[in-house]
Amino acid sequence: MTFWEKIYLPSIFKGMAITFSHLFKKRPTIKYPEQTRTFPAVFRGVQILNRDEEGRERCTACGLCAVACPAEAITMEAAERQTGEEHLYKEEKYAAKYEINMLRCIFCGLCEEACPKDAIYLTQTFAPANYDRKGFIYDKQDLLIPNPVTQPEEYAKAKGTIGKEIK
Ligand code: SF4
Ligand code: SF4
Repeated sequence: MTFWEKIYLPSIFKGMAITFSHLFKKRPTIKYPEQTRTFPAVFRGVQILNRDEEGRERCTACGLCAVACPAEAITMEAAERQTGEEHLYKEEKYAAKYEINMLRCIFCGLCEEACPKDAIYLTQTFAPANYDRKGFIYDKQDLLIPNPVTQPEEYAKAKGTIGKEIK
């Protein structure tokens, strides 16, 4: 060891200089949840169940999304639309129950691809943390986009979380 290596001081000053230089650099961390990152357009997050322009549910409970899902995360129960329910459901059949298990979902987007009714879309939001496993089972009420007729502001906000224009 040289004399300067033995007294360690140059190495200590060098290390401190590196540490202090980081004080003036841009911080890579963000203060989530007050601040959020802008996701790239291809980001796939939590699903929404879409409505048509009259606020009716688009999903017909055909099950194609569940069949396409490689993680078997989607379950549903179909029901027949009754007379007088035309303002609620677009088609004669609808999903009385629709659930996605977010612990299984791998956000591949195949459910969106498979849907023939433009009823399911992946948004640019991710599932929030939860202390309870049951909290990750999202039911229809969790997934349905707000009604564009009765809740236009909430609908616009929810629609804004989708990377592309939905029908
Ligand atoms: S994004 Fe993929 S894994 Fe998640 S529910 Fe849809 S098809 Fe299944
Ligand atoms: S979301 Fe689409 S694919 Fe899935 S059951 Fe509803 S209509 Fe069928």
